[in-house]
Amino acid sequence: MAVQLRYNFRVYPTPAQQVSLARAFGCARVVFNDGLRLRQRAREAGEKYVSDGELSRRLITEARAMPERAWLAEVSSVVLQQALADLNTAYRNFFASLSGKRKGRRAAPPRFRSRKDNRQAIRFTKNARFKVLDNGRLRLPKVGDLDVRWSRTLPSEPSSVAIIRDAAGRYFASFVVTTGTDEALPPVASEVGIDLGLTHFAVMSDGTKIATPRFLRRAARKLKRLQQDLSRKAKGSNNRKRAVVRVARAHARVADTRRDWQHKLSTTLIRDNQAVYVEDVCVTGLGRTKLAKSVHDAGWASFTGMLEYKAARYGRTFARVDRFFPSTRMCSDCARMNDKMALDVRAWDCPCGSHHDRDVNAARNIRAAGRADLNDRGAQVRPGLVLAPCREAVTRREHAPSGV
Ligand SMILES: [Zn+2]
Repeated sequence: MAVQLRYNFRVYPTPAQQVSLARAFGCARVVFNDGLRLRQRAREAGEKYVSDGELSRRLITEARAMPERAWLAEVSSVVLQQALADLNTAYRNFFASLSGKRKGRRAAPPRFRSRKDNRQAIRFTKNARFKVLDNGRLRLPKVGDLDVRWSRTLPSEPSSVAIIRDAAGRYFASFVVTTGTDEALPPVASEVGIDLGLTHFAVMSDGTKIATPRFLRRAARKLKRLQQDLSRKAKGSNNRKRAVVRVARAHARVADTRRDWQHKLSTTLIRDNQAVYVEDVCVTGLGRTKLAKSVHDAGWASFTGMLEYKAARYGRTFARVDRFFPSTRMCSDCARMNDKMALDVRAWDCPCGSHHDRDVNAARNIRAAGRADLNDRGAQVRPGLVLAPCREAVTRREHAPSGV
């Protein structure tokens, strides 16, 4: 099974390249918004949906020939086509969600992009002829050769690269790479169930408890302090603008650190176990309760996403166990169903004589349920598009990808 991975690297454009990138972000935004406006007007006028092909012809090919849009020619046409592709995807998701074909949270209709958006992005596909040069620079049409901080090797040739400018003013190159399953690891005997909890980040069926590391908690506390600082600054003041950048930087740092830590943990779990089972925590359901803060800080969704794609990539089994499964109050030794327990009950005794740690017992039940589910219906593995680890601390350019 092929898995699509994203590899992010920090890039350092020169001032002139920053100007070119700003122009490309702007042109992509204009074309996206033109497309959205054209379709909205057609709908209001009762006309039929403007096709993808017609949109591309009118807003790129014909527009570039008009004086008021002539500046679109200063940007790679692939960047503009990809902006329309984003719009088309947004429409397709919205329609699929309306008709019930798409499961999960209801997709919103496409929205106009603003120059004030925190994240600006453009995408180059293979036919834009982006190229990683022998000297490690990334060549982009009509932008130039960008200085990339390579922190690891790309496993194969990337099919596209997005250039992103985040709220902290940092630039990233995000490559999409498709990998096969030839990376399967040698089989091992152990299987593990994982309880994702609030007292610990994760508790394993073998009794291991993993706490959120102290450095991450400290970074999160610092972020909170900066956010409070920000809320006290007067609207429109320069102090406020500086505080916004500080918050954005701290936020990016917390996200990077957490992602790195989760990557290490998920890699270890997949390497050491033939099968990994987790409880399918309903994150959107919990998100509305007072548990929301800790849930979002814990980042379970991204963590289970990593387990999922790494299992697919390395030939392991990953499965989610039904979230209505009573993993906490069932005895993992005798299968007796005990009474509901308050959240603060950390250990309990079953009438069968077993003494249980609440979370370890839950993890053992998850492992058992995962095994039983697999026997019933086989592994369900949905590989998604997930961020590969970004380690920016490594020296630059030594590991420039070869054969790209
Ligand atoms: Zn029991």
